[in-house]
Amino acid sequence: IITLSIESSCDETSIAVLKNGREVLSNVVNTQIELHKKFGGVVPEVASRKHIENIDEVLDEALKQANITLNDADHIAVTYGPGLAGALLVGLSYAKALAYTTGKPLVGVNHIEGHVSANYIAHKDLKPPFITLIVSGGHTHLVEVKNYGEYEILGRTRDDASGEAFDKIARAMELGYPGGPIIDKLAKQGNKNAIDFPRAYLDDGYDFSFSGLKSAVLNYLNAKKMKKEDIIVEDVCASFQEAVVEVLSNKAIKAAMEKGYNTIALAGGVACNSALREKITELGKTKNIEIKYPPIDLCTDNAAMIGCAGYYNFINGRRDDMSLNAVPNLRIGQR
Ligand code: ATP
Ligand code: MG
Ligand code: FE
Repeated sequence: IITLSIESSCDETSIAVLKNGREVLSNVVNTQIELHKKFGGVVPEVASRKHIENIDEVLDEALKQANITLNDADHIAVTYGPGLAGALLVGLSYAKALAYTTGKPLVGVNHIEGHVSANYIAHKDLKPPFITLIVSGGHTHLVEVKNYGEYEILGRTRDDASGEAFDKIARAMELGYPGGPIIDKLAKQGNKNAIDFPRAYLDDGYDFSFSGLKSAVLNYLNAKKMKKEDIIVEDVCASFQEAVVEVLSNKAIKAAMEKGYNTIALAGGVACNSALREKITELGKTKNIEIKYPPIDLCTDNAAMIGCAGYYNFINGRRDDMSLNAVPNLRIGQR
């Protein structure tokens, strides 16, 4: 089965071709990061316009690299939420037009389920059930993957997402956008025990909270500025990152143990974080829990992960029609 998949939920225009859900024949990603950098974050209208400009070329390139024609595809998979409404609509309308003109089935995909599915591409032997820790720019969820397309949410962030916390702290220190990769890099030269930032364990449940940590870092930076003391950026990065990574790792391991799983799959852009990968793998070893994560290019937004989730939706019988609309706040497991 050949899947043609389209992703445009944020600032990446991406189209991929997959064979039988897990074999990537092409995965073309046109990122707008450079364009949005000067604004310090994604500007929705600018993103939508750029998707329209890019998408024809991205399709041509994806088909060319996969060495197929549009007619070789068995279905069209597309992200319809969550994400920016205007950005989602570009990919969705494009997918509808392709499905309509070729007569191929249209299959809607949840972007977050796509992030989780990146693990199926990276680990050919991975099958549900397992625990997934979803840590992206807009989401932080601890989820039981019971079967393909079947999710049970154990916990979620009550305020900021983990990626959002990285981006906001980087912005406060004027380090650039997106903040995650920059903080990850600077933290390597810093001391993670330099500053004792708060960890929110919230009565030991599965929910997360990062706004208290964010305020603590901002207060620390302001106090240093008031006292005209030097800020050691590397130490702030390392100490902040450690506070995030420690809570994420401990809660995910606790969930796996309490629910009786021996596999945790990391998903989303923050799954790129080297300290998170290291810490949770180390903790997992002591508890006989295997930690899996996708390579960097499958952690951040891409259409291959959407194609993989779309393939499982397709073989589970999901079909959408021309009335499929963009759902900016679509939740995991919801359709
Ligand atoms: P969502 O998937 O929730 O809709 P999104 O698509 O914008 O949001 P992703 O593409 O999954 O988010 O990930 C982008 C986020 O990942 C950004 O917040 C970015 O700072 C973060 N990120 C990327 N690399 C790293 C890293 N090495 N360490 C920490 N965070 C990182
Ligand atoms: Mg992005
Ligand atoms: Fe994403």
